[in-house]
Amino acid sequence: MEGITWKGSPNHYDGRQGNKVDRITLHVMAGYLAGTDTLFSRSSSQASSTYGVGGNGEIHQYVSEDNGAWADGSAVSNLRSISIEHQGGLDFIPCTEACVNASARLCADIARRHGLGRLERGKNIFLHRDVPPYTHPACPDLCPNGLDWQAVIDKANQINGYGGNAMANAGDEVWNWAYKPNGKNATPGGNMYNLLAYELPQRVRDSIMQYSYKGSAPGGNIYNTICFEIPGMLKHLTKTIETQQQQISELSEKISKLEGTTK
Ligand SMILES: [Zn+2]
Repeated sequence: MEGITWKGSPNHYDGRQGNKVDRITLHVMAGYLAGTDTLFSRSSSQASSTYGVGGNGEIHQYVSEDNGAWADGSAVSNLRSISIEHQGGLDFIPCTEACVNASARLCADIARRHGLGRLERGKNIFLHRDVPPYTHPACPDLCPNGLDWQAVIDKANQINGYGGNAMANAGDEVWNWAYKPNGKNATPGGNMYNLLAYELPQRVRDSIMQYSYKGSAPGGNIYNTICFEIPGMLKHLTKTIETQQQQISELSEKISKLEGTTK
């Protein structure tokens, strides 16, 4: 992935002791990216992560993906995981949308390169607080300005064509759709049922009632047909009959004249 700045950290395993990457762990810095750079650059901190994402969406890398970072408070997890830190987690340091979006792109890239498939919390992507022995119960979200990890996961899945939650829940959404006449929910029963039971009759009734003959007052099909359309048709019909009678009488006259000449 482009746009990643290498920072490096001395705090990591050499390799992964035969483990392959099968998960991502999400963290919050409880601080700024710049402070995290400093912290991870010192061997005395004994801490690192694979990546860190800042408030403008900038991504720093501290540890190669080939090596386990010292991030999760668990050797088992560190040796299998790629860890991502996020700026935020304190009252005065927001976790920004740019940070969430950059993290989603990074997670999507990691998932694709390591064949993780659709990301699911507890399966192939973990919150730090989900990792035994649960040393960081607030990381990354149960703190002020915590990480919106659900948005990160959903957006990453969307980028990789898994459609986030929207597709997984499409069936439920269709079934639970309820027509809302006058703002009140009709019984949930699915799009098709509610369309037939509520929406279609309403629409048909509306279109009948609102029909107006050539800009006359709206009054429905039957009223306007009787008041405007039928009189018009009768008038037209009367005219046609009058014209035809005229033609008939002219024709009769011609016939009687013709009879006169032949006599
Ligand atoms: Zn953490």
